[in-house]
Amino acid sequence: MRNAAATALSAQAEPIAEPAPVTVAMGDGIGPEIMEACLRILEAAGASLAIDEIDIGESVYRAGHSAGITDSTWQSLRHNGVFYKAPITTPQGGGYKSLNVTVRKSLGLFANIRPCRAYPACIPTRHPAMDLVVVRENEEDLYAGIEHRQTDQVYQCLKLVSRPGCEKIIRYAFEYARAHGRRKVSCFTKDNIMKMTDGLFHEVFDQIAPEYPEIETDHWIIDIAAARLADTPEIFDVVVMPNLYGDILSDIAAQITGSVGIAPSANIGSNGAMFEAIHGSAPPLAGRDIANPSGLLLAGVMMLVHLRQPEVAERIHNAWLATIEQGIHTDDIHRAETSRHRVGTRGFADAVIERLGTEPETMTPVRYNADAAPVIAPEPLPQRVAAKTLVGVDVFVHATDTAEALAGTLRRNAGDILDLQMITNRGVKVWPDGLPETFCTDHWRCRFMPADSCPVNQSDVVALLASLTEAGVDFIKSEQLYDFDGKRGYSLGQGQ
Ligand code: NAD
Repeated sequence: MRNAAATALSAQAEPIAEPAPVTVAMGDGIGPEIMEACLRILEAAGASLAIDEIDIGESVYRAGHSAGITDSTWQSLRHNGVFYKAPITTPQGGGYKSLNVTVRKSLGLFANIRPCRAYPACIPTRHPAMDLVVVRENEEDLYAGIEHRQTDQVYQCLKLVSRPGCEKIIRYAFEYARAHGRRKVSCFTKDNIMKMTDGLFHEVFDQIAPEYPEIETDHWIIDIAAARLADTPEIFDVVVMPNLYGDILSDIAAQITGSVGIAPSANIGSNGAMFEAIHGSAPPLAGRDIANPSGLLLAGVMMLVHLRQPEVAERIHNAWLATIEQGIHTDDIHRAETSRHRVGTRGFADAVIERLGTEPETMTPVRYNADAAPVIAPEPLPQRVAAKTLVGVDVFVHATDTAEALAGTLRRNAGDILDLQMITNRGVKVWPDGLPETFCTDHWRCRFMPADSCPVNQSDVVALLASLTEAGVDFIKSEQLYDFDGKRGYSLGQGQ
């Protein structure tokens, strides 16, 4: 921690309230210069902040902390609850965990809010009417970071999706839409393929939507949704989606507004919030005074709204609009037809500061309702415990046999309780009645079900695994198959 004592950013204007404690990280690459520019603007606008500066990122990684953050730094984050963060560099190579993912998940920042708006009068874009907000789930999905190498040929990454996780993010999207007067919430999933995980996300969306009758809703399969978002983004308003899709699509959405350098992001949880630009540390631009600080500045505006300093947020946002409207542009958005002055990072901050108190003339000024409370992260509903019945087991086997030979070995050694029902390879059924054309790896999923539809228990599964091990079968994991309240809790797994 660089400053043990909090440093008050005293305002030129009368301070609005008790300074709000905020943890600040200057970041790596372009981070320090864009953060310095933003803090200058916030101070000049009258933000009332007590800043606690911390070190995270590349130097901390290189000092041997695999997540780029030290134990003592967590204390500042947990104590202050609000984190204003410049981008950091994740060193190349194995052994380094993503700091962003670690912070988001450790602090329970489940909602990632990324407004992506076009400013066609001053930043050229093919999508002048675009004004959408990506609400990305932040804690689940493939970002659990649970990966394994299982055989010579096959690696796996677990996709985990929970009902409380879906409820939190989907309710947040609706609450956000209501609080910001948005007319529609769209849900993007791939539930035609991932019927259980993405299917749950879609199901929860459909369950929650009727609680917001004034808001229009629709659901899109992610592939066509991505295509339409890149082509006609103006048809979308608020879009909510699982983690990986949200990560990718929010960058696309930001880029097509005109520059990835202008998009902010807020990460919101029940006990904290983190505000940052969506872009990275752009190492080639570092130290050259050419990076655009706008994404981080607009993240600061979102932070001020969250801290209930809406007047300051409004003053900065309108000064920023006036600056870009007057053609004062950093290199990334500088175009002969729309720009008047090319400025560096510092020059851009100076221009915004000069315009504090003014408003854009051709664009509509923003208004932040002084009475508006931040969107509250709703708690998920308590869930009833279902009746769970074990009905079989999938045994995953590492083998170089043919499907027929493997089936023979498994059937000879399975015992009396559980019968081999099918074998799939990468999800495609190869036994019984496989096709010779199917390419097979050394990773087989072998489904066992009770021989006579009789009840099965964990001891039967253990006995099966012991017997297969005895016979030299290299099983690498098992997944128990359950029914929940009589409803199948596993995919049929025939590649459909
Ligand atoms: P990047 O976002 O840093 O850069 C992508 C492109 O956008 C580059 O051409 C860059 O010059 C441009 N760009 C980005 N920000 C800009 C700005 N403010 N002004 C003008 N142009 C800008 O992505 P990358 O190159 O893939 O990643 C670089 C590093 O950043 C990596 O170490 C990565 O891990 C890290 N990263 C950090 C965060 C974060 O801290 N939130 C997010 C993404 C990437």
